[in-house]
This record gives sequence, structure tokens and C-alpha cells, in this order.
Amino acid sequence: MGEKITVEAGVLRVPENPIIPFIEGDGIGPDIWKATKMVLDEAVYRAYGQERRIAWLEVLAGQKGLEHAGSLLPDETLDAIRIHLVALKGPLGTPVGSGFRSLNVAIRQILDLYACVRPVRWYRGVPSPVKNPEQVNLVIFRENTEDVYAGIEWKKGSPEVLKLISFLRQELGVEVTEDSGLGIKPISERASKRLVRAAIRYAVENGRRSVTLVHKGNIMKFTEGAFCEWGYQLAREEFRNAVITEEELWRDHAGVLPEGAVVIKDRIADNMLQQLLTRTSDYDVLALPNLNGDYLSDAAAAQVGGLGMAPGANFGDTIAVFEATHGSAPKYAGQDKANPSSLILSGVMLLEHIGWKEAAALVVNSLEMTIEERRVTYDLARNMEGAQELKTSEFAEALVSNMAKVS
Ligand code: NAD
Repeated sequence: MGEKITVEAGVLRVPENPIIPFIEGDGIGPDIWKATKMVLDEAVYRAYGQERRIAWLEVLAGQKGLEHAGSLLPDETLDAIRIHLVALKGPLGTPVGSGFRSLNVAIRQILDLYACVRPVRWYRGVPSPVKNPEQVNLVIFRENTEDVYAGIEWKKGSPEVLKLISFLRQELGVEVTEDSGLGIKPISERASKRLVRAAIRYAVENGRRSVTLVHKGNIMKFTEGAFCEWGYQLAREEFRNAVITEEELWRDHAGVLPEGAVVIKDRIADNMLQQLLTRTSDYDVLALPNLNGDYLSDAAAAQVGGLGMAPGANFGDTIAVFEATHGSAPKYAGQDKANPSSLILSGVMLLEHIGWKEAAALVVNSLEMTIEERRVTYDLARNMEGAQELKTSEFAEALVSNMAKVS
């Protein structure tokens, strides 16, 4: 038995026993969900005793949705997330020919979860392909609702594509060869600004040093270039007292960031990918359009140990769905083998979101301790000298038993 989380004047009201819907997910989903639930429940119990408890509510999607509710994404599932405001989601595969481009994208778009937030940091002891993984401490804000992910595209030779090609030729004087497929990349002022607003607000509230707008505006001037312009515009209009631009930083402050200020800068996406490797510690909060955000978050995750360690969340104005960055890894389904850390750390973000920071810290501390003990799942064990390879469930048990030592 639990109670609903509610929102009043933009502030979450969280009862002692909040109902939180979860989607178990496909592929490795059941294994990593079981591990995650065990760890989060233990952390809440250790932090607050009997006083607080999450009332998990299973909602169906993916294969389970199809089998038990006749739909890959039942309306009841979306309604439950709308009503309860906060949810945890395992990875969903998208069967080819299902009518969905991606279930994950559909959930974000239907619920208007416009900001995909992915913190990327290194945990001591995690094997990494770079020399100084401890320098990575990013929070990526990826726009979630538009760009090429809007799914506006047509196949080569289709009546729609031929119509569009002839329209482009006749009305706009643009030549496109007839054997082309065509896609449309919408980037709007409203969606860009609300994403950048979320990123700057986060940076200001959390004492971060910079927000970097990452774009390919040198080529795509009216989409990605506009994203960057609107970002600066919003920063000036809504955060004038809290931010300075990189230009102002050098012109007025000799490159020394004034106490408490956040610097707004921008980088071209290709340059950003290399700077992430060569000047890692210069970057902090990043704000990106959808496709850049997708590429960059996987690249950044690789620097700190790969997808198994990368948590994420999708925020709308009031709803938040927390989910691992990786997919359903069908190759490892049902083998009790995958690394549950990404979903567990998404659960940590959830605990922080509802204000249960003590429980969140317990999970992080026990995770760090377990990794330092080199007791890890296969993906980390194979790159770690002297590691003991644990199954998913054994790793969760190790976290639970270490929690007793860190609490
Ligand atoms: P994937 O992320 O599922 O797997 C890629 C590789 O990463 C795997 O082969 C595995 O080696 C590794 N990996 C991923 N998660 C891991 C974990 N927890 N522990 C250890 N290793 C892990 O990507 P994919 O194979 O391209 O996609 C499989 C399915 O997942 C597709 O149907 C795709 O649409 C879907 N997908 C879902 C999400 C989501 O739910 N948000 C994201 C990406 C892909």
C-alpha cells in the first residue's frame, strides 16, 4: 500500500510510502530490475528504517505488455506514469515491424519528457580506456522530442518522397536526386529554449561552473545554429545575473570565473567529441540537440567504463522517468550476467529527485566499495586485473552487504 507523489506549485510532495511505477524491461531487463529493486529497497530501509518505503507498482511495456495487455505500450502504462509523476524503466527492445520506431522514444515523446539528463562520472576502480577518467564529471542535457528523432522521413521512390522532391524543385528551386530518401530535421525555438533552461537552472542550483551548447551550426545554420543562438538568448534573458558568456569571461574577467557564476559557451559537435578526450576537465554541464546528445552520451560513458555504468533520466515539466542509458542487450537475456549499475544509478537519480538523499548516498558508497573490492560483473571484470566476476544477482547481494559497512 502506498500513496501518490503529488506536485504543488512546481514542488514535489513525496509521502513516506510513495507509489512508484516500474517497467521491468525486455532482454536483460528482468535481471537488472531485480538487482536494482533489492539494492534500492535496502538503501531506503538502512537510511530510514520502517518509516519510509517505496511501494513499487509494476506497469507493462515491451514483450510483457504485448503478452499480458495486448500492446507493446498500453495506455494504462502511460496513464500510471502520468498519475504517479515518477517512474523507473528497464530497457525496451523494439521488435522490427511493430509500428513503433522505438518504444523508448515513444514514451519520451508521448509524455513530453523533453530533457534527457545523463550524469557521467567515474567510479574509482572502474576500468577505463583513458588515462584520467577521474576528470570526467559531466551532466548531459539532451533534447528529447525533436531533431531527426521526430521520425519525419520517407523512403526512396515512395509517392511522398517524389511529391516532396518535385515541390522542392518547383517551389523552392532546390534539386534533390530522385533516388534519395528524405528526412526532415525540425529544431524549434520553444523546445531548444526549454532544454537549455533546464540545463542552466541545473548548473546554477548545483554550483556547476559551465554550460556548453554543443551544435553543428557551422553546417546546419537554421537548426543547430539556431539552437545555439536561442540558447545564448535564453541565458541572457532569464539568467542574466547568474551567468556570463565565454566572451565576457575573457573580455571582462581575464578568464577568471567570478565566484558563483556559470559560464555559457558553445562548441561545434565534432570538436566537442575530441575536446572531451583532450580537455576533459574544461567541461561540466552540456546541452545538446537530440542526435548530438545521443552520440556524445555514449562516447562520454565509454570514458568512464561503458554503458553498464551510465544512468539517465527523462524529465518533463512535472513527470520524470529514470532509465538506464543502454538497451536490452538481448544476447545476455536471462543469463544473470549483465551489469545492473546503470539502472541502479538511475535509481539513485530517482532517490535524489524525490529528496531521499541519504538513501542515494548509501547506494553510491556501497557501489564504490564493491568496485574497489574488484567484485564486479563480466563487463568490468574482463578489463580489471585480479577481479572476481559476479553474476548480476551476486553483485546486488555484494552491494547490499557492503551497505552495512558504509552506513
Ligand atoms: P544495447 O545497449 O542493448 O547493447 C549493446 C552492447 O552493450 C551489448 O551487446 C552489451 O555488450 C553491452 N551492454 C549493454 N548493456 C549492458 C549491461 N547492463 N551490462 C553489460 N553490458 C551491457 O544496444 P543494442 O544491442 O544496440 O540494442 C538492443 C535493443 O535495445 C534494441 O532493440 C534497441 O532498440 C534497444 N535499445 C533500448 C534503449 C532503451 O531502452 N533506452 C536504448 C538503446 C537501445
